[in-house]
Amino acid sequence: ASEAGPYDVAIIGGGPGGYVAAVKAAQLGLKTVCIEKRGALGGTCLNVGCIPSKAMLNNSHIYHTIVHDTKNRGIEVGEVKVNLDKMLQAKETSVKALTGGIESYLFKKYGVDYVKGEASFASPDKLNVKLLDGGETQIDAKNVIIATGSEVTPFPGIEIDEERIVSSTGALSLKEIPKRMIVIGGGVIGLELGSVWSRLGADVTVVEFLGAVGGAGIDGEVAKAFQKSLQKQGFKFKLNTKVVSGQREGDVVKVKVESAKGGKEEELEADVLLVAIGRRPVTKGLNLDKIGVEVDEKGRVVIDDQFNTSVKNIRCIGDATFGPMLAHKAEEEGIAAVEYIKTGHGHVNYDVIPSVVYTHPEVAWVGKTEEELKKAGVAYKVGKYPFAANSRAKTNQDTEGFVKHLVEKDTSRILGTHIIGPNAGEMIAEACLAMEYGASSEDVSATCHAHPTLSEAFKEAAMAAHGKPINF
Ligand code: FAD
Ligand code: NAD
Repeated sequence: ASEAGPYDVAIIGGGPGGYVAAVKAAQLGLKTVCIEKRGALGGTCLNVGCIPSKAMLNNSHIYHTIVHDTKNRGIEVGEVKVNLDKMLQAKETSVKALTGGIESYLFKKYGVDYVKGEASFASPDKLNVKLLDGGETQIDAKNVIIATGSEVTPFPGIEIDEERIVSSTGALSLKEIPKRMIVIGGGVIGLELGSVWSRLGADVTVVEFLGAVGGAGIDGEVAKAFQKSLQKQGFKFKLNTKVVSGQREGDVVKVKVESAKGGKEEELEADVLLVAIGRRPVTKGLNLDKIGVEVDEKGRVVIDDQFNTSVKNIRCIGDATFGPMLAHKAEEEGIAAVEYIKTGHGHVNYDVIPSVVYTHPEVAWVGKTEEELKKAGVAYKVGKYPFAANSRAKTNQDTEGFVKHLVEKDTSRILGTHIIGPNAGEMIAEACLAMEYGASSEDVSATCHAHPTLSEAFKEAAMAAHGKPINF
């Protein structure tokens, strides 16, 4: 086997955590290598996650709008058809452009060495890499960052064949539009990918163990509005319900469910079953136990507040460790981890990590929910403003939803912002900036927002938090 190095930093995994860390490390003048086993950079997010799902969400939304929402806009269209092959191709084109861009542009531009293969630790500063093209190599590195990400959590007893019983990966590439789809898990993946196929014509039923949809961290009032909106679009929900079993019988999938508290079983049938009950860290095969890197009971690599694992000079970021499994969180950590290596200082503000669900309407939030504030005994005020009273939403005929700010009672400092409505995912950046700078709802109210824009609803909700909005 050949040997390469010594590198200042070796990064295992080329996802949003790993590739961003690699680019930043090279920008800071560190000799950097990134090892990725997938054959393409970008990790889960670019290959089978954020990017392909958003391509399918956007194109299915356009189709749905044309079919259901053009008449009132004075647009008459003839026959409208889905060409699923083309839609899947369009998705692939977006994915390839982005993953290829990291390899052929970013890594070359900044001088990151890229090794295609699977890494494992021979010792804390030596990696064995099984190369994708065959053979092995060894890499010496003064620092290693584990950025190996996550994989689908399997449902015990339900075998994923990525054809009829699918994970998110199979659900991004179905060969035909299912007539009936069952989704286990009413979290982000279930609702986003459920939306894609529902818009294209599938009858979607979501089975969720909890009493609300939207996944962890969603505000209770928003979750209710979200569920109602999806029901109007045709979603069926079975909440407080657990799946007992699921199996494929020919071209049909049979799923047995019962109340979460136990009780009578019911059998549901579908053409496709999507299992979306969460993701778990990937650390198998890294030899972590051999070199003494501690992993917790959920499989997450244990780190301190500077991303250090239990072994010196080995750090971990992204989905493989604690915190929300989000691409932008992994990116922030990648940059901060490398800054710690180079300068001894780095920073991620975990109080200001936004969440976005890219359905229609979109749902986005940052900071505390009302439930969390109540539980913590914080005195707060609510400022809410409906998009129905926003001029741009009216002109767009897209008025569902609201902006809701939760502000500290005495100071009006923004503690959380929750949005359901058009463009919520872009608008939440304004809340992040406000919170990052410790802004109050008065600060937001005193900031001029262009007219007519959806963002005026953001400002008016801030006005409502400590006084009165103008247009409602
Ligand atoms: P990953 O992206 O999982 O990358 C880890 C990489 O490491 C992988 O490519 C893997 O092949 C490689 N690897 C693992 N072990 C080894 C090894 N031993 N040697 C070499 N390479 C190895 N997040 C958002 O913020 N917004 C979204 O819209 C969004 N949508 C999503 C949609 C879906 C369907 C899914 C599944 C996820 C979505 N996510 C989204 C979550 C997001 O994809 C993850 O949070 C993000 O990819 C985590 O980045 P990471 O770098 O930690 O890990
Ligand atoms: P999730 O944690 O968001 O949702 C899983 C849901 O499944 C939860 O509501 C949970 O209560 C439910 N559940 C768990 N076990 C169940 C069971 N036995 N029966 C019925 N319901 C059950 O997980 P996900 O939707 O699989 O997504 C995985 C990760 O990917 C998330 O951490 C998410 O952050 C990330 N992701 C993010 C985005 C985005 O940012 N837009 C999109 C997709 C995925």
